[in-house]
Amino acid sequence: MNLVILNFNILTLFPELFTSFLGESIVKRAIKSKKIQVNLINFRDFAKDKHHTVDDTPYGGGAGMVLKCEPIFDAFASINSRFKIQDSKLKTRTVFLTPQGKRLTQARVEKLARYNQLTLLCGHYEGVDQRVRDELIDEEISIGDYVLTGGELPAMVLIDAISRLQPGVLGKEDSHLQDSFTKALKRKKEYPHYTKPADFQGLKVPDILLSGNHAEIEKWRKSQLK
Ligand code: SAM
Repeated sequence: MNLVILNFNILTLFPELFTSFLGESIVKRAIKSKKIQVNLINFRDFAKDKHHTVDDTPYGGGAGMVLKCEPIFDAFASINSRFKIQDSKLKTRTVFLTPQGKRLTQARVEKLARYNQLTLLCGHYEGVDQRVRDELIDEEISIGDYVLTGGELPAMVLIDAISRLQPGVLGKEDSHLQDSFTKALKRKKEYPHYTKPADFQGLKVPDILLSGNHAEIEKWRKSQLK
C-alpha cells in the first residue's frame, strides 16, 4: 500500500470551489497516486443552531461579518480525531490564509512542503474571530498585497505550489529544482525556453541553443537569469 506523503485538511465554507482544481492535471494525478491527500471540511457543518450560522456582527461595531469561534474550534477538534496522523514524529502545521500574513515565497513553500499534514483555514467576509487565530493557528500566510473575497484561491495556490515539490508528483523527478526562485537559480527568475521549430515565421531560436555545446548553453542560461 502506498503511504500518503502529505495530507491537506482544508476548512472552507465553499468546498465545491475546489472540485475542478483537484480534478485536473498534476494535482489530480498526485491525489490518484496517493502522493497527496486533500480532505475538504465545511465548517458550517459544525454550526449547532438550526440556521447553521457561522458568522456574526463584530463587537465594537463596524462593517462586515466575522466568522465565529465555535464551528471552527469544533471543526479543528474533528480533524484532530479524524485525520490526524497518529505517529507523533510526523510534522503538522495549521495555516490561516489572510492578507495580513507573511508573504508567500518559494522559500516559504519549500518549508511548508516538509510537513506531513497541513491544515488550511480559508477565511471569508470581514475575517475570523481573533481567538481562532490566537489558539489554533501556527502560521498566517498572504498570497499578495491585495484582498480577495475568500481564502479558497490562496489555499489552492498553496496546495499547488507545495504538491509539485513532493517526490514523484512531477513527471521528471527533479524538474522543479531548476524553476524560478529555487536555490539552484539563486532565487532568481528562470531563463527563456524555446522548442521546435527553430524558425517560426522568421522568429529564430538563439544560435547557442542549437550549437550542442552544453557548457556554453549553461553559460548563456545563467546570463539570462533575471
Ligand atoms: N478584512 C480583511 C483584511 O482587511 O485583511 C480581508 C478579509 S477578505 C475579504 C476575506 C478572506 O479572504 C480573508 O479572511 C482571507 O482568508 C482571504 N484572503 C483575502 N485576500 C487574501 C490574500 N491576499 N492572501 C490570503 N488570503 C486572503
